[in-house]
Amino acid sequence: MAVVQVEGIIVKEVMYQESSKILTLFTKEYGMIGVLARGCRSPKSKLRGVSMRLTYGIFYLSYKNNGLSTLTQVDVLNPFSHMLMDIEKISYATYLLELTEQVAKESSDPALFELFKNTLLKIEEGLDPEVLVMILEVQYLSFLGVSLCTSCCTICGNTSHIRTISVDAGGFLCDACYRGEKLYSEKFLQLIRMFSLVDIAKISKLSIQDAMKKELRDFLEYYYEKYTGLYLKSRNFLKNLKKIGS
Ligand SMILES: [Zn+2]
Repeated sequence: MAVVQVEGIIVKEVMYQESSKILTLFTKEYGMIGVLARGCRSPKSKLRGVSMRLTYGIFYLSYKNNGLSTLTQVDVLNPFSHMLMDIEKISYATYLLELTEQVAKESSDPALFELFKNTLLKIEEGLDPEVLVMILEVQYLSFLGVSLCTSCCTICGNTSHIRTISVDAGGFLCDACYRGEKLYSEKFLQLIRMFSLVDIAKISKLSIQDAMKKELRDFLEYYYEKYTGLYLKSRNFLKNLKKIGS
C-alpha cells in the first residue's frame, strides 16, 4: 500500500464500528475515494477534529486503488471557521457537497474539484452563498453533459439579436428563432451568461437583488429538473430555510 498526500475535502462521513468512520473524500488527484478513519471518534485520536464533513486539507493516506484507503494524518488548509458558524452558509455548503457527489459520478475531470473548492472558499470569504451556489450549478451543467448555451442562439448559432433564454430550448434564443417563449430581461441574460463564464476564484463582489435571485433560482431549478434527474434532499431543506427567513 502506497503512502500518498492528497488535497481533498470530506463530503460524507458514515459511522463505522465502535470508534471509526468511513469518509468519502473528494480529492484533486483521485476524484471521490473511500477512506477509513480508524479510531477517529475516540477522544484521544489526532484524527478526531479532522474527520468531519467539510474538512479541507492535505490528507495523508495509505492508498488503495480499489478499496478503502486508510487515513493517517490531516493538515487543515482552511478551517472554514466563518462558514461553520453560520447555519445558512452551512446549509448551502451541505447542498453543494451532495450536488458535487452526484456530479462527480458523471465526470472525473479534475476541474470539478477546483470549482467546488473555490466556491467553498468564497462562501467562507463572505460572498453571497445563494448566488455562488447558482454559479456553480450553471458551471456543473457541462460536466453533466447538459450545458446551458449562453454564447449564441441555441437553435441557429446566431451570436447577435438574442431575444431571451429558454429552459426547453436549452439556452439563448435569437429574434428569428423566438416562438413566444417567456421573455427575460437583458440583465437576467447578462447574469446567466456571466454565471457560465466567470472564474469563481476571481470573484470579489456579488450583489444581486432578491427578486432577480428568485428568478434565476426558478430558472435553474426547472433546468435541473428537466435535464439532470438529480433529486437532492438538501435542496428542499434550503427552500424551507428560505421560507423561514422571509
Ligand atoms: Zn436563432
